[in-house]
Amino acid sequence: MSSSLRFEVVGEAFKKKAIEVPAPSERPSEFFAKYVFTRQKMYKYLPADVFKKMCDVMDNGATLDLATADKVAEGMKKWAMELGVTHCTHWFQPLTEGTAEKHDAFLEHDYKGGMVEEFSGKLLVQQEPDASSFPSGGIRSTFEARGYSAWDPASPVFVIGDTLMIPTVFISYTGEALDYKAPLKKALHAVDRAATDVCRYFYPDVKKVISNLGWEQEYFLVDEGLYAARPDLLMTGRTLMGHDSAKNQQMDDHYFGSIPGRVAAFMKDLEIQALELGIPCKTRHNEVAPNQFELAPIYEETNLAIDHNMLLMSVMKKVARKHGFRCLLHEKPFAGINGSGKHNNWSLATDTGILLHGPGKTPMDNLRFVTFIVETLMAVHRHNGLLKASIMSATNAHRLGAHEAPPAIISSFLGKQLSDVLDHLEKSTDDELIDLAGKHGMKLDIPQIPELMIDNTDRNRTSPFAFTGNRFEFRAVGSQANCAASMIVLNAAMAEALIHFKSRVDTLIQAGMDKMKAILKVVRDDIKTCRPIHFDGNGYSEEWKKEAAQRGLDVEASCPLVFDRYLDENSVKMFALTHVFTRPEIEARNEIKWETYTKKVQIEARIFGDMCLNHIIPVATRYQSALVKNVHDLQAIFPAEGTAGQLNAMNISLIKQISEHSSYIAEHVEKLIEARKVANRIKSEREKAIAYHDTVAPMLEDIRRHVDKLELIVDDEIWPLPKYRELLFIR
Ligand code: ADP
Ligand code: MG
Repeated sequence: MSSSLRFEVVGEAFKKKAIEVPAPSERPSEFFAKYVFTRQKMYKYLPADVFKKMCDVMDNGATLDLATADKVAEGMKKWAMELGVTHCTHWFQPLTEGTAEKHDAFLEHDYKGGMVEEFSGKLLVQQEPDASSFPSGGIRSTFEARGYSAWDPASPVFVIGDTLMIPTVFISYTGEALDYKAPLKKALHAVDRAATDVCRYFYPDVKKVISNLGWEQEYFLVDEGLYAARPDLLMTGRTLMGHDSAKNQQMDDHYFGSIPGRVAAFMKDLEIQALELGIPCKTRHNEVAPNQFELAPIYEETNLAIDHNMLLMSVMKKVARKHGFRCLLHEKPFAGINGSGKHNNWSLATDTGILLHGPGKTPMDNLRFVTFIVETLMAVHRHNGLLKASIMSATNAHRLGAHEAPPAIISSFLGKQLSDVLDHLEKSTDDELIDLAGKHGMKLDIPQIPELMIDNTDRNRTSPFAFTGNRFEFRAVGSQANCAASMIVLNAAMAEALIHFKSRVDTLIQAGMDKMKAILKVVRDDIKTCRPIHFDGNGYSEEWKKEAAQRGLDVEASCPLVFDRYLDENSVKMFALTHVFTRPEIEARNEIKWETYTKKVQIEARIFGDMCLNHIIPVATRYQSALVKNVHDLQAIFPAEGTAGQLNAMNISLIKQISEHSSYIAEHVEKLIEARKVANRIKSEREKAIAYHDTVAPMLEDIRRHVDKLELIVDDEIWPLPKYRELLFIR
């Protein structure tokens, strides 16, 4: 790109005005889920007996027979065609990023020489997309070549444009999961069963336990023209070079600031579309970094919440383009300012109320509350390394451990009140009354436990897994990640903790101990066991890293090595107990993780090399030549000076610096290519990823520093790439 093109796109970006988004004619409560085949619509479009069956399928996991499916499909088709729908697709979440779809027209031969719109139960329930182009980590070669997608009736179908979208799981012909949804549903089933069993100690009537998820999606917006002028953003989603802007987030003037016009129009448009798709958008605001924003819906059942997040991410990208933006979901698009995450607010609830909710009204409520808190901590403690693995990726690795983000160590923040409760409980004896009323407005009477007041007034932003009043907030999840990865591990680990809890309590009860006392004893033991995971201090501090290691927490930060945690004996056992993954499935999925890691770094390294050699060095040389010419010109006018004289001191210094940086860049880009070649020859995916992590990735950072120095030296007019100040401050 010539310099004038950079100025042109910057100029264009400045001139752009907000697109008018007409106000909807209805209220949000009226157009909410307009494009979703909701229960109300089922009631309207399905025969009464079919509707009843569908409710049984959705609420109690009953199996759907083909005859019913046919009738459901008929009703769905009618509804969809009224919206102008002509096609349908199974919509699934393969182990690549994002979602996948393959559209089929409703059209069929009518065998009378014409065509007819058809949509059968079979097509609704099952499809066989060619699985061979999706990553399977060798599952297909080991097992069976075909894969199929199967409808998930727990997530309603919806319409986008002219297409009926059917959420599905994606599995190999032999039943191994090739996606995120299948294992997620298994984990949710496991936690439902285990938590229901434990709940019945307290409330014998509980029928089921639901896992809830409320995600908070962070993202950046960048003007489309500027984005197009940055090959790195275009190809990798992040800037691989670029000097800090003089002003970035140091003034803290962006967070919760007023939302700029073009962005406000985008948000409004996005919210309308998301609401129409049944995503219950609630909160929108500016984030800490310039051009960074957040959207959060009201929490929903985890499976549905994840589908909604996947859907939202794709809608966001589309709407952004309509408004002349690109939406960046990368975890670290810009060095030196905050990256983006996706807090996962997680809780369990029965059909009657939230389990992580204090205060309780009865002693039973409080003991239930403490039990579920402590068993969550047990799960997080036992699988802290695995939880970290579940949120680790080549892109999120840039964020973890950086200053604004939680460190690459999983610990849990409880706050003063809850910490006190657990401390006192641990130290108390069975019949002792634990009274915190005087100190903290909290009274914990055991075994007769009255009211508990836990609120979330003291918040700790540095903790990756914080208790916030009625839920835990898993904050280390990456902004572009599929939340399913972390939710599979968290829910399955919780199921395991509850299964272990129950078997120990039952053993004591069988030995003749009173139920309450048995529960208390196990809770007390567990408070001691999981103590190391509890940390309310500053998670960003250097001391914490040391202390965490002493506590036996996982402190590994290398992305490919963190993936090993999936194959730890502890993890394999937990996944087997909960029927979430078999060992071959875990092995296959890890192969994909390592392969994906390698590919990401490989692509970055290639683009980076190109940019250095084709963009940066040529302009640096051009500027240097101009300086050299200037030296000669000056000498021609002042021959007595000599080229190295006082008059030329600045020129000579710049010429030297440019030479130094340019030759460093050229030489090290060569080395970078060499390092890639060496890594590429490695056969094992794991070893290759390690090589990319240890040799290739650090070179990008190292060389970048020299490029960024050149950016400061070279004439602004010929610098080819939009600068940080332009990318970040234009709306
Ligand atoms: P903050 O930024 O203060 O953490 P937000 O309001 O942005 O809070 O987001 C909090 C998210 O947590 C929302 O999606 C909200 O619906 C969700 N949430 C609230 N209570 C629960 C709960 N019990 N379980 C799961 N999610 C919850
Ligand atoms: Mg939050």
